[in-house]
Amino acid sequence: MTLKFKEPAPITDDLNPLESMMERFNEAAEILGLDESTYNALKSPEKAVIVSLPVTMDDGKIKTFQGYRVVHSSKLGPSKGGVRYSMGVNLDEVKALAAWMTWKCAVVGIPYGGGKGGIQCDPRKMSQGELERLTRAFTGAMRDVFGPERDIPAPDMGTNPQTMAWIMDEYSKLAGQATPAVVTGKPLVLGGSLGRVEATGRGVMVSTRSAMAKLKMNPTESTCAVQGFGNVGSISAKLIEQQGVTIVAISDISGAYYNPDGLDIEEAINYVSREKSLEGYKGGKIISNDELLELDVDILIPAALEDQITEENADRIKAKLIVEGANGPTASNADAILDKNGVMVVPDILANAGGVSVSYFEWVQNRLGYFWTEERVNRRADRIMKQAFDSVYKAARKHKCSLRTAAYIVAIDKVASTSKLRGSF
Ligand code: NAD
Repeated sequence: MTLKFKEPAPITDDLNPLESMMERFNEAAEILGLDESTYNALKSPEKAVIVSLPVTMDDGKIKTFQGYRVVHSSKLGPSKGGVRYSMGVNLDEVKALAAWMTWKCAVVGIPYGGGKGGIQCDPRKMSQGELERLTRAFTGAMRDVFGPERDIPAPDMGTNPQTMAWIMDEYSKLAGQATPAVVTGKPLVLGGSLGRVEATGRGVMVSTRSAMAKLKMNPTESTCAVQGFGNVGSISAKLIEQQGVTIVAISDISGAYYNPDGLDIEEAINYVSREKSLEGYKGGKIISNDELLELDVDILIPAALEDQITEENADRIKAKLIVEGANGPTASNADAILDKNGVMVVPDILANAGGVSVSYFEWVQNRLGYFWTEERVNRRADRIMKQAFDSVYKAARKHKCSLRTAAYIVAIDKVASTSKLRGSF
């Protein structure tokens, strides 16, 4: 398709996430017939803040870190998105991740915009004290950006509930009042939500079930491979197995493990909680992570890293259904190949939105000063995920496009029409 707004980025092996995001945004904008002023307003972030954070290290020296927070959009509500601690953090990556959060929240219909943040650091090489001082410095520098009605961080790569507890504490200190709703993903005792830990994997399972029903796949006759066995991969595998699907392969950084007769996921989860990784796991034959992606299975769940399915291997994918647990596991240059081969892809902004949906419930509970049962959290989250799948599927039928393009269409349409109603960009 020729694009009205921007030529497609040249196809290279290393599309950066911002380019991948923009490719898909452009295609959906074209189908929607978005006018140029709305297109220009939605394409760039509302706000991008870069801060220098001098932190006293344990050896007494002062080290200065770069921190970022990008608010892509606050049209649907306060911006929401994680904070990543990694050496790879850069402004382009944070901008792409912030925009993805806007589309993700819009697709599942929660009243949030999108944001993302990060600090360029290696958390594995820092002590708890150094991490705490860095997090408090970041919170202080972002005190005018963060806020329960403005911008609400959450954990991402390299950060965890403890990091959120420090942000909540520092922000509360600066505000002079307890403000638990300024972050989500907090420890339960500080106002975290029941069901949050399993929320993303649970949403992946609900999306898988919805897609299987459309493809008339019988769970007990279907096989599935899962790449990545962390929070998202292991819980997706467990819950999909509970639907009757045979999980034949799982993997983590140590390699992939394949058993055509099916793996025992509960056993693998217990193994990882004892051994910290799947290394040495004897439940299946060892294969490579690349081989896992190309196995002859019905369902493939990439739940580890970005850019795992590319124009290089897309033609060799045999699964009929891919459900993206990870963010950006399919490079945009693989989309057309998967489409041509009739593979249904439930895109990341839909499939893994169970996590942000339950983050929203955490924020709601904090503002109510009330706690929901896990059963209530799960029931409401399942409903959100199912409705979101149905609306994206309907849009895909209407526009005769992939579920990915349809998810962007649903999301962009919602943000664009809200912007127009509000009357300002
Ligand atoms: P995690 O750190 O808990 O797990 C990551 C897993 O991937 C680990 O098992 C790790 O060993 C494995 N891995 C790393 N490199 C690998 C490789 N080369 N090949 C195969 N496996 C490899 O992280 P997570 O929270 O499960 O997140 C996974 C993905 O899901 C990320 O893309 C993340 O952005 C996305 N995501 C997570 C959530 C959430 O709530 N946790 C929500 C939305 C999206």
